[in-house]
Amino acid sequence: MATTPELQDRPRVLVVGGGYVGLYVALKLQKKIANAGGIVTLVDPLPYMTYQPFLPEVAGGNIEARHAVVSHRQHLKQTELIQGRVTSIDHANRTAVVAPADGGENFEIPYFDVVMAAGAITRTFPIKGLADKGIGLKTIEEAVALRNKVLERIEAASTITDPAARAKALTFVVVGGGFAGIECITEMEDLARAAVKNNPRISQEEVRFVLVEAMGRIMPEVTAKQAEWVVEHLRSRGIEVLLNTSLDNAEGSIKLINLPDKTPAQDFEADTLVWTAGVQANPMVRSTDFPLEPRGRIRTLPDLRIAGDEGIVENAWAAGDLAAVPDLTGSGLPDGTCVPNAQHALRQAKRLAKNLWASRWDKPLKDYKHKNLGAVAGFGEWKGVANINLVGSIGLKGPLAWLAHRGYHGMAMPTFERKFRVIFNWIISFFAGRDTTLLIDLDNPRGAFVAAASPAPKPAAAPAAPAGSPADAPTPGAPGTAEKTKVDPKQSVTADAK
Ligand SMILES: Cc1cc2nc3c(=O)[nH]c(=O)nc-3n(C[C@H](O)[C@H](O)[C@H](O)COP(=O)(O)OP(=O)(O)OC[C@H]3O[C@@H](n4cnc5c(N)ncnc54)[C@H](O)[C@@H]3O)c2cc1C
Repeated sequence: MATTPELQDRPRVLVVGGGYVGLYVALKLQKKIANAGGIVTLVDPLPYMTYQPFLPEVAGGNIEARHAVVSHRQHLKQTELIQGRVTSIDHANRTAVVAPADGGENFEIPYFDVVMAAGAITRTFPIKGLADKGIGLKTIEEAVALRNKVLERIEAASTITDPAARAKALTFVVVGGGFAGIECITEMEDLARAAVKNNPRISQEEVRFVLVEAMGRIMPEVTAKQAEWVVEHLRSRGIEVLLNTSLDNAEGSIKLINLPDKTPAQDFEADTLVWTAGVQANPMVRSTDFPLEPRGRIRTLPDLRIAGDEGIVENAWAAGDLAAVPDLTGSGLPDGTCVPNAQHALRQAKRLAKNLWASRWDKPLKDYKHKNLGAVAGFGEWKGVANINLVGSIGLKGPLAWLAHRGYHGMAMPTFERKFRVIFNWIISFFAGRDTTLLIDLDNPRGAFVAAASPAPKPAAAPAAPAGSPADAPTPGAPGTAEKTKVDPKQSVTADAK
């Protein structure tokens, strides 16, 4: 394993992951560290930060995919960027191993401080057929694929005559009734309704949306009353909401079971299965020498330094979805840590950057403490729910909540340039309507070119026919007819029958 010669030879702050936490830590530190003679290095397999709260709107076609991501190159000009995946960290020796995104040879990277910010991955269970049939909603690529899948299935169904195959194409299932799941199913439903409106061969009644939730309620982020209202709202739109229900098997048909008794529930066919039933800390943390808690997150102090039973791990920091950060307001998870969300990730990143800088000058560190501002969710155009904790708690639903959702996320989208793109796109859609154009062949873009560039197969040479047979007669006017091969009609029939 080699140390790449291209790396800068300066005391390094290594940021592992360039999502919410990584982007903000690098933004806040890159200039200060560079001016002090060091370098901030950010490693991420992706060249951009994904604004995940916009993924449902990307799936629904209301936000352009590129607008929902923030380019590292464009916005982290004083940061050393490495496109790759950190596979392990030996903090005792202050080195990380990076697997480059282009599949090249792994290399080691030395550092002085490390910031762990590799977030979370989708949490699944060993359900048969899920890995083959399902798709998550954690990346921009998944959101784009979902939008295309909804539009493609509707278009395909419009020419399918077999009723069972048609129903299968037009059934969309989402598992997980948290924020992501509810926003996803409602955005997809809105998109599907708009697409069906433009397609005279399909009726709205044929399209089926099913939400599967294992608990007795949805959306733990809003009050029980609001959650009940959301269920009623979804049902009023024709979305089937199945509470206390779980996916048991996705091999072939979708087999559901009732909870907690696990008795069989519905069994039906569906071409689209979206899994949004939770996240788990990035498993790469298990390949480090940092202290972990039972759920697999890195343990931190409230000032965001990594610390375990042995005490503080010097020069090591963590925040966001992969960190178990104590929630000093007392309103976090049952184990007293912060809920994994963007609200915390963003603020923890800013506090972490300040504390890391202060630690360089032996200044006192401050604890992270943030009171939950509430939650806003969009359910497609002009629909939503919100619970805002500013002066007391304000509950909103319908168009007002949707406006609050757009207002909040429009402003929370990192960087002015991206806010501008998203908000202008919303304005364009307001006047021009929802764009339901289906982009095809995204997973095989070279198909048409390969077909065009491949030489057409030569016509098979026909066997000679006996002299004097009808095929021997020249076709008047055909060039070179005198040299034409003679065809035996009997042989031709035999070949066709094979
Ligand atoms: C569909 C959806 C909707 C959401 N809506 C909301 C919402 O409305 N409000 C809210 O507050 N929160 C919301 N969240 C949650 C929020 O997006 C996350 O809590 C937040 O992104 C966490 O930030 P993070 O920096 O910890 O991780 P992330 O933003 O996930 O960033 C992690 C980064 O690490 C990179 N990475 C992964 N593995 C490695 C590796 N081995 N080496 C290097 N880099 C690596 C990834 O590519 C990624 O860029 C939503 C999440 C989803 C999925």
